[in-house]
Amino acid sequence: MSFKNSLTEKRPRLTLVGAGPGDHELITVKGAKALKDATVILYDALIDPKIFEYASPRVIRRFVGKRCGLHTYSQEEINEMIVSYALTYGHVVRLKGGDPFVFGRGYEELAYAGSFGIETDVIPGVTSATSLPALKKIPLTTRGLNESFWVLTGTTADRKISNDIFLAAQTNATVVILMGLKKLGEIAGIYKEAGKKDLPVAVIVNGSLPNEQFIRGTISDIQLKISEYDIHGPALILIGEAVGLQLDKDSRYIENIKAQFA
Ligand code: SAH
Repeated sequence: MSFKNSLTEKRPRLTLVGAGPGDHELITVKGAKALKDATVILYDALIDPKIFEYASPRVIRRFVGKRCGLHTYSQEEINEMIVSYALTYGHVVRLKGGDPFVFGRGYEELAYAGSFGIETDVIPGVTSATSLPALKKIPLTTRGLNESFWVLTGTTADRKISNDIFLAAQTNATVVILMGLKKLGEIAGIYKEAGKKDLPVAVIVNGSLPNEQFIRGTISDIQLKISEYDIHGPALILIGEAVGLQLDKDSRYIENIKAQFA
């Protein structure tokens, strides 16, 4: 019987867990339960250590992030760590910022572990792409203003600007750009070419964390405004008419709603 128990405990397993955008309370209930159950947690940069209050005090924690000047691991090394920890210790939680399937390479890790016969699960996370605008009370879609929102990366795998940004600039979509701050000048140029120099833009840095920075502007002036800030940390760029809505300053939307029901 005890033999059976130890086998159950050591069952190699990988759970990919989305940690949410930063604020540790924005992990899901199911994600927090997985942390409690984990024997090993492999976590990325952008994870607030406060999140470990949901984990067992005996858990083995390994930082495998790609910043902070610490030893950095290649994706191949991370894949191998997942497999070897799961085979040795049982339940590995791979904790990733936001949602593991939004620019998170989560699928690669699942596929690699799966190829070793390791059981895998995914617990979605609250992605920065939708939650950070919501926390700033910026709606991604607004009746009458736009019909879609696009989530793009500013920097493609070969470090170039994504062709999708040219396409997005032609639409009324609210555009959310991750990993794009270094390309902001280029992005603004694309929107200017599309005749949209007055379109509202916002930049959120370290969103949902105590050191959050929030900068509003337009396609024409955002670059200048940003240059006045000392920015360290991940940043999200939001572009579109809906980004200009401000409950406290702009009564446009409220007036529209009242007019609809008058
Ligand atoms: N899987 C993550 C995204 C990983 S890519 C998610 O779903 O949120 C990392 C990029 O996400 C960062 O470069 C930045 O553009 C954005 N990001 C993540 N957390 C952020 C935060 N707290 N504030 C601002 N941007 C953030």
